[in-house]
Amino acid sequence: MTEKKILFDSALKGAGIALSKTPTEVIEVVKNSGLRGRGGAGFPTGLKWEIAAKSQGEHYIICNADEGEPGTFKDRLILSTVPLNVIEGIIIASHAVGAKQAYIYLRGEYNYFLPKIRKAIKKARPLMEKIELNLDIVVGQGAYICGEETAILNSIEGHRPEPRKRPPYPAEKGLYGSPTVVNNVETLAMVPLIFLGIFDPKKRLCSLSGDVEKPGVFEILEGKQIGKILEEAKPIGIPKAICFGASGGIMPYDPCMEITEENIKERGCFFGSGTIIIVNHTHSIVELCESIQKFFVHESCGYCMSCREGSKRMLEYIKRISAGKATMKDLNKLEELCNFVSVASFCALGRSMPLHILTALRHFREEFVRKCR
Ligand code: SF4
Repeated sequence: MTEKKILFDSALKGAGIALSKTPTEVIEVVKNSGLRGRGGAGFPTGLKWEIAAKSQGEHYIICNADEGEPGTFKDRLILSTVPLNVIEGIIIASHAVGAKQAYIYLRGEYNYFLPKIRKAIKKARPLMEKIELNLDIVVGQGAYICGEETAILNSIEGHRPEPRKRPPYPAEKGLYGSPTVVNNVETLAMVPLIFLGIFDPKKRLCSLSGDVEKPGVFEILEGKQIGKILEEAKPIGIPKAICFGASGGIMPYDPCMEITEENIKERGCFFGSGTIIIVNHTHSIVELCESIQKFFVHESCGYCMSCREGSKRMLEYIKRISAGKATMKDLNKLEELCNFVSVASFCALGRSMPLHILTALRHFREEFVRKCR
C-alpha cells in the first residue's frame, strides 16, 4: 500500500492563529475558505458552524472517525500521520461555536490509533485549557451505520445506533438535544491549514484501490483525468469500471474523464468520501453487485422495512441472476425494487444502497441480460 507523506503537519500553529481571533471571525474565515464536508454530504463547513453557534443550548463537537465505507482509508492515513491536525480542527471548531465538550467517535477497527490520538491530545492540552475544552474518545463497535451523523449521536448517548429523523439537523438539535457539529476526520484536519493560508478547496484526498499495483491515498486536484491518476497507481489488466465504494455506484472506466463531482453525478454515481475502486476486465459486474449487496444485508440496521427486507430480496434476485437461474421478469423486478428502496428508506444508507445495482444496470446492462433466461 502506497502511504506517502502528503499531509502538512500544522504542529499547533493553525490553532494558535485561530484562537487569537473571535469566534465570529473564525467562522467567517472557514466560510470564505470554501471548505466542505469530506465525509460524503459535502455541506459547507463554515455554514454548519454558524448554524450551531447561533442555536441555543450547550454546544458539542463530534469528530466522525468511523470510517467504514468499503475502499475508503484516507482518514486512517490522517490519523496515523497527522493526528494533531485533527485535534487542532476540533479545538478551532469548539472555539468557533462555544463548545466545552467534544468527542472523537473512533471506528472500532481503528482502536490501535488510540495511543497516537491520546499523545496528540496531550500535546494540544494547553490550547484546550485556554478554551476550557474537554475532549473524550468513544470507540465504536463496528457498525457501518455509525458513520451516519445522527446514528453517532444515539451511540454516544448509549442508545442503539439507529439514525434520527432530520430535520432537526444536529447543528440545531443534536447530542442530548443540543446544537452539535459533526465533522469527519479529513474535514477537521483541513481546518488548521486554512489559518496557515495553505488550504486549497480544489484538492482532496482519494482512496484508490482495486486492480492496481500501488493502492493508496492520493491527493488529487479537481479536474484531473482519471487516466493520469491511474498512471501513478499502475493498473493491473485492462480497467473496465470504477466503483465508488459500496454506496457510490459503478460506472465505465474512461481515462479521459476529469474527476469532478458533476462529471461523476452525470454518470449516475456519487464521489462521496473520495473512494475509487478500479475493476478490470476479468471481473463480472453482476458478481461485484452481489458482493456489495451482501455487505448491505449485513449492515442494514433493521429499523425500517424497505431497507431491512428490501436488501435481502435484492440479494436473492442478484444471486439468481448470477447463477443463471433468473428470467428477464426477475431483472425488471429487481430494478423496480431498487427504485422503491431508494425512495422509501429512512436514512441515506438505505436510499443509496440500490445505487450500485441501478448504475450497473445503466452502464453494464448487457452483463445482467446475458445471464437471464
Ligand atoms: S434505511 Fe436501513 S440503515 Fe437506514 S434506518 Fe432504515 S434499516 Fe436502518
